[in-house]
Amino acid sequence: MDNHQQSLEDRYGRKLTYLRVSVTDRCNLRCMYCVPRNGIEKVHHADVLSYEELFRLCRIAVDLGIKKIRVTGGEPLVRIDIDKFLLQLAEISGLSEITLTTNGVFLGSYLETFKAAGIRRINISLDTLVRGKYEFITGHDCLLPVLDSIDRAFNAGFNPVKINVVVMRGINDDEVEDLARLSMDRPFHIRFIEYMPMGGSSQDFPDLYMPSSDIAGLIEEALGPLEPVRSKKGDGPARRFKIKGAAGEVGFISAVSNHFCDSCNRLRLTATGCLRTCLL
Ligand code: SAM
Repeated sequence: MDNHQQSLEDRYGRKLTYLRVSVTDRCNLRCMYCVPRNGIEKVHHADVLSYEELFRLCRIAVDLGIKKIRVTGGEPLVRIDIDKFLLQLAEISGLSEITLTTNGVFLGSYLETFKAAGIRRINISLDTLVRGKYEFITGHDCLLPVLDSIDRAFNAGFNPVKINVVVMRGINDDEVEDLARLSMDRPFHIRFIEYMPMGGSSQDFPDLYMPSSDIAGLIEEALGPLEPVRSKKGDGPARRFKIKGAAGEVGFISAVSNHFCDSCNRLRLTATGCLRTCLL
């Protein structure tokens, strides 16, 4: 790491080392937990930061102490030249990790470039293994390309491939066991995320909300006790476990039932250039 790096600390003594950069508000999917029923007003193109502006802000953030950047959206892979932007980010000295969160639909064709950019970890959102239900949740019949991207990411050597599952009672809680099983044979990290009442999707809260304790209970009932995995400082908010004999892990992000604000080390940069310390 460069000596010129400073440290960003807030008034609660939290060291901010992690920046999530939303490169676009646009998405090719319409996930029911993300998009309000009456739609989202799109940001005008002129108000979205250019890659030059995003890059400049990321460079400044690294100079101020950010060590890890996660590129997200909207869906980051719908923005043209995202691969070039990631290759440019990889050139920032002092940045120890770049990660990406994607719905995976367009990921397959980008994998080699992302690897060249030094990205090793990738998060892919996948809430169901049933094709019709995928279409119901996301509004698009895209399960097969997502499953293909997951296979290809694993075969290309990304490790870990993390799979983000938002669990919704009565929608996909019957698949918690099947999704957790994905961690058995391959070293996938399956991260069960509590449904959060965000923006316009909050009308379905609390009906669809399921606490992590219930999700863990379903897994233990079907697959046996969960053994805790020790996390390192700065690893993020997931509480991590292993099913006995599994190659991978399961984890729980419990933003509703177990606030992790005191250990939060994140800053967020929106596609329009707003800097936020909290998603909510
Ligand atoms: N388009 C990309 C994707 O699908 O991964 C990145 C953006 S998406 C908003 C980032 C993550 O937020 C996804 O894993 C998604 O499941 C999660 N998310 C969105 N709305 C949520 C909600 N209401 N509750 C919990 N997680 C949510």
